[in-house]
Amino acid sequence: MARIDLHAHSTASDGGDTPAELVRAAARAGLDVVALTDHDTVAGYQEAGAALPPGLMLVPGAEISCAWQGTSVHLLGYLFDPAEPEFAAERDRIRSDRVRRAERMVELLGELGAPVRWERVAELAAGGSVGRPHVAAAMVEAGVVPDLPAAFTTEWIGATGRAYVRKYALDPVRAVQLVRAAGGVAVLAHPQPEEREYRLPDALIAELAAGGLTGVEVDHPDHSADTRAHLRGLARELGLAVTGSSDYHGDVKTTRLGENLTAVAEYERLLAAATGARPVEASRTA
Ligand code: AMP
Ligand code: ZN
Ligand code: FE
Ligand code: FE
Repeated sequence: MARIDLHAHSTASDGGDTPAELVRAAARAGLDVVALTDHDTVAGYQEAGAALPPGLMLVPGAEISCAWQGTSVHLLGYLFDPAEPEFAAERDRIRSDRVRRAERMVELLGELGAPVRWERVAELAAGGSVGRPHVAAAMVEAGVVPDLPAAFTTEWIGATGRAYVRKYALDPVRAVQLVRAAGGVAVLAHPQPEEREYRLPDALIAELAAGGLTGVEVDHPDHSADTRAHLRGLARELGLAVTGSSDYHGDVKTTRLGENLTAVAEYERLLAAATGARPVEASRTA
């Protein structure tokens, strides 16, 4: 039984492990396949690929920031051609707007009396795709909140928070098209989390399925048993592949690599639909 985990973050976005550390941790966790899915960036690919331990396959991907009716939607793109210009330009645009938005959140925090410095947030992001977890970490350091989850509230930078600022994000139907046009496959990430900021309606999942979506992430730490059962039924109805993954972020979150897994047959459905890139193996001569 191959162990396949299709959603993990590195320091190229808001994860705690460098890409090299991530693939080593994946091997230690007994994974056969791990996908690198940083927010809106492919910057970790090279380092992850170069550090691959023998026996571990790397699926290059990204988690794309989308928005639908004002709520945030995450779309996993796998095995697309990272050089395809239209999709690459949109990832660049989202990443630049993440910087503007984080600077603005820092400004609002200052107005609320929280002594958070942009320079520190930028240092924590270390050149990667900057996100709210970096702002939240700076808030913890400054003694504004006791831990990261405490920053994601209405008081601070949760979705309706006083210092929350929206970022540029894609219409999800268009994002699916961009991933497909770059030869990739698209899987909707954690659509119905229990305690997170949004739950997407089944009708949107159906619309995305009609627009070229290949799969839906069902087994995810934020999904309850009931939600998983519901989404499994919906996926069957809509002809979507079902994936499972940890959404690992290193020490930044409590989820462990391999906490949820994807079945081989479902993984093969994704592979069969992708033409933009292939999974990467350790080079034998290394
Ligand atoms: P952003 O993309 O900058 O809006 O940041 C969203 C990211 O913050 C998500 O992808 C999660 O990794 C993280 N996040 C969201 N909610 C929480 C929470 N309650 N506690 C810790 N991290 C969170
Ligand atoms: Zn994240
Ligand atoms: Fe996500
Ligand atoms: Fe994620």
